[in-house]
Amino acid sequence: METTPLVSDGVIYSTSSWSMVYANDALTGKLLWMYDPKVPRQWAVHACCDVVNRGVALQDGKLFVGTLDGRLVSLDAATGKVRWDVQTTDKTRPYTITGAPRIAKDKVIIGNGGAEYGVRGYVSAYNIDSGEMAWRFYTVPGNPDEPFEHAAMEVAAKTWGGGPWWEIGGGGTVWDSMAYDEKLNLFYIGVGNGAPWNREIRSPDGGDNLYVSSIVALNPDDGSYVWHYQTTPGDSWDYTATQHMILADMEIDGAERQVIMQAPKNGFFYVIDRKTGKFISAQPYATVTWATHIDPDTGRPVEAKGARYEDEAIPAFPAPYGAHNWHPMSYSPAAGLVYIPAQDIPHVYAQDENFTYKPGFWNTGTDSIPALLPTEPVAREAVKDMVKGFITAWDPVAQKERWRVTHEGPWNGGMLSTAGNLLIQGNAEGQLVAYSADKGEQLWQFDAQTGIVAPPMTFRLKGEQYIAVAAGWGGTFALTAGEDDNSGPRPNYSRLLVFKIGGEAKLSPVPDRPAKLVFTPGEQTASAEQIDEGLRLFHTFCYVCHGAEAIAGGTPPDLRAISPETRAKWDPIVRGGMHWEKGMVGFSEVLSKEDADNILAYVTEQAILALNKD
Ligand code: CA
Repeated sequence: METTPLVSDGVIYSTSSWSMVYANDALTGKLLWMYDPKVPRQWAVHACCDVVNRGVALQDGKLFVGTLDGRLVSLDAATGKVRWDVQTTDKTRPYTITGAPRIAKDKVIIGNGGAEYGVRGYVSAYNIDSGEMAWRFYTVPGNPDEPFEHAAMEVAAKTWGGGPWWEIGGGGTVWDSMAYDEKLNLFYIGVGNGAPWNREIRSPDGGDNLYVSSIVALNPDDGSYVWHYQTTPGDSWDYTATQHMILADMEIDGAERQVIMQAPKNGFFYVIDRKTGKFISAQPYATVTWATHIDPDTGRPVEAKGARYEDEAIPAFPAPYGAHNWHPMSYSPAAGLVYIPAQDIPHVYAQDENFTYKPGFWNTGTDSIPALLPTEPVAREAVKDMVKGFITAWDPVAQKERWRVTHEGPWNGGMLSTAGNLLIQGNAEGQLVAYSADKGEQLWQFDAQTGIVAPPMTFRLKGEQYIAVAAGWGGTFALTAGEDDNSGPRPNYSRLLVFKIGGEAKLSPVPDRPAKLVFTPGEQTASAEQIDEGLRLFHTFCYVCHGAEAIAGGTPPDLRAISPETRAKWDPIVRGGMHWEKGMVGFSEVLSKEDADNILAYVTEQAILALNKD
């Protein structure tokens, strides 16, 4: 659950997995209507980061939602009836939509995701009433032999070289954050990483690769380019600039500035002039090793030696999970603080020496094996100990942390701060916690019985203030992290929770989950070479959903714990696509029978390891 609920006229609107939309009475929770866009479940294979959705946009009784399979749907807010439904992506490419649309005047704007699988990023604007496309802004250049779609692409193309990036798509997907400044009539988009991650493969002649990992300001009337600021020039680390952008006015060095604030994945907190795009300041808000600092004169990062892992693998902070991911940060003008749900996660970046483009599949151009935890126990624990999650209360003017709340681990919920000096966050441990916004003192907590990643929101109705949050565990870290997620799989119970002072409802009890895993691997019959090949294939095709080292995060099945019956159906499932209706499509295009057997040998080996540990 990654949705931010919206409240209007006593109705609370939210979304869930598979892009479903719910309208509930905001006072009672009574379901008024629900809309299922019927996303084909096999589309999940194109989603890097779970089948999530971050919410709806709403204007004048018209509701808008993006769907995982690339549609933008408009609903009547009163009834949930479809007003229009348009395909915003090329269905022959692995595009997905998980972000919420945004509205600027009479247009609704939507981006997309899928850079890791090979797509070209863009945002599209549609007329709110007719659903007709008004404009499209591409974020990265296409095939240079074809005409540029708009002037900004001609500029961007000069910063790419030695392709053919356009075959893989180039990336630059706008998969989450966008913001509109009505007064300036500027529409800001946060642009994602390049595809593949590794610039050495994407653009071997180097270059900044505009507009990957950038904030771009557009004129929302026609989608024309106004300015850009690139947080990670020539990105090679999956350091997206798709993170939440906060527009605020504040006094800096004696002058009133209109700023945009962002804490992108790369670990630096940026304050940018939102009128001009001019760099104001940046400092690291978490552990950062890929760059030493941001040059105050140029606004460009000064990269650490070897950071681009061209000659050898390099351990670095942040990981592709980011020092901060999509989980919204918040700003309290009263406290003068930005609250960032931050994390320290190390990662070993390494070239994929044998990279070949696999259309529709995982294409990062990096080798995921060196990034696994060491097998040697002392080293393994040492790396796991580096993995941390925390709230940093950040002073954006002084560019300094004022205080910090430490969590048990990373991947905690988005933030809400209120004028009543409250700071509220759900966390990975399943607690919804209120702190004082000025000092970070814990005031209250509630056991939500499930991990929380979504941000709380607040609304007032009939003179009372309410806090709403979508509880439920999931997302990319939950799926992929394996034992880095060191408290093990958490239960997922997707529920919308609403609170007020004196609220008396009790959460209904949930069954104990996850049930203890039972390992029945049987005998290992494969050779060491086969197991090794299985490890490589598993971490090419399987781990993004089923977890590093086949240790799953609690939503898709933990393959180490499959039953002998499932084991007997391995090939029909893995290559035949027997469970496509649950999102597990057949991989016969890319895996031979022998490949599938080798993956099973590796999974068996991991199950034996787990069994011996028990
Ligand atoms: Ca990415």
